[in-house]
Amino acid sequence: MIRIEAAPWAAMVAHARKVYPNECCGAMLGLTDGETKTVSEAIALENAFAGEQAARYELRPQDLLAADKAARERGMDLIGIYHSHPDCGAYFSQTDLKNSCPWYSFVVLSIQKGEFDHANSWLPNAEQTEAVREELSWEG
Ligand SMILES: [Zn+2]
Repeated sequence: MIRIEAAPWAAMVAHARKVYPNECCGAMLGLTDGETKTVSEAIALENAFAGEQAARYELRPQDLLAADKAARERGMDLIGIYHSHPDCGAYFSQTDLKNSCPWYSFVVLSIQKGEFDHANSWLPNAEQTEAVREELSWEG
């Protein structure tokens, strides 16, 4: 399961609302203890997708590397990626699956009419053919 602390959760929701009606994306930093991942910090990253960003996001590999480095400097790991779905449910799309990595948790925030609605966390398999829902909780 993945647990998001109050500060990173507030930052993620604020980021998603700010870029609405486009998709936002960012990195989640924290620690893994057995089966439980705890997110202690969220880093907003730029949506680098060159086209219409209302239904698509793209992360630059160098931004992810920088987030990974920042995590290590703070004694944490890069444990997941978050992005938003403006006026769409928090499902994991075929595009999301195609661009996924099996070692990260993917948190999707559904933003309806500019306000947070619901969220899900997804764990893609190594073949990138399906993603299972991961238990998600947040504070605040
Ligand atoms: Zn998506």
